[in-house]
Amino acid sequence: MAPPNLTLGFDIGGTNLKAGVLDTSGQLLRRETVPTPSTLPGFLAAAEALISRLALGERFSGAGFGCPGIVRPFDTLVDCLPGRMDYLEGSRLSDLVAPWLAPGAIVAADNDARAALAGELAFGAARGRENALMLTLGSGVGGAIVSGGVLLRGHAGVAGHIGHLTTDPDGPWCLCGNRGCLETFFSARAIEVEALAAIQRGCESSLRTRFGANPLSVTCADVFECAGQGDAVASAIIARAVRYLGGAIAGLLHVLDSEVVILGGQIAQAGPVLFDTLREDVEQRTRRLLKRTIPIIPAEVGEHAGIVGAASLAFNG
Ligand SMILES: [Zn+2]
Repeated sequence: MAPPNLTLGFDIGGTNLKAGVLDTSGQLLRRETVPTPSTLPGFLAAAEALISRLALGERFSGAGFGCPGIVRPFDTLVDCLPGRMDYLEGSRLSDLVAPWLAPGAIVAADNDARAALAGELAFGAARGRENALMLTLGSGVGGAIVSGGVLLRGHAGVAGHIGHLTTDPDGPWCLCGNRGCLETFFSARAIEVEALAAIQRGCESSLRTRFGANPLSVTCADVFECAGQGDAVASAIIARAVRYLGGAIAGLLHVLDSEVVILGGQIAQAGPVLFDTLREDVEQRTRRLLKRTIPIIPAEVGEHAGIVGAASLAFNG
């Protein structure tokens, strides 16, 4: 029997570089993780060692890279990557894997949110869908859109930055330079800031009971947990954040007419405390115009979504 086609998935993150090898059915055959180096020479050496260990002397039939920032999908050039990995700007990610490629191999790269949706299209909650909206909910909010079967990239590769959708024109300043972006209201960072303020004001809440001695240690997951246990302050913080998320999703559904909304990222683990409230909010906002209920569901590609998504970029061409 012929060996399976091997596709390399390489997930470049601010904390870790994660890479793995998938067969054509999407099964992760092996994977490796190393801390993200702080210099370009360090990065190149770490990536080479990582890929060499994963190749096991074989050649890849495809390779995909998921990366924060803006990456040109077809020549894999990193266009814009603000922050501590800015040393990658101007690098061509396909060069990293060139020695390990079989003839005719496809190499693709894109930002991590689009990679996540590529993974859901190939193996997860977006299989068989031509119109889907995905949000990755973490310390910020990422997004990706497939419309008419095409993963939208826009003119300059910026499409899908749903976290920077304006939800209040006079709202808080955002790191992007705008005011009132979605992620200034709904993101782990925004929810933690609200919780911290409530604790420091001395509000009567299990948040203060649990974190009063060390308010800075409160996490978004803690706030969802306290809300799930019925704490009024935590519930109000979550309800407000979810209302902004619901408003943004409803607006996007009116624009895009998506079949499904997929939520990934760490906050999507919150379960019914998030999903029940959000579904009700979006339903109320959209039912008259859309005349149907749009499913809002968790991402299905599991804990190695970054690697699987990156590899799926090569599957999708
Ligand atoms: Zn912004």
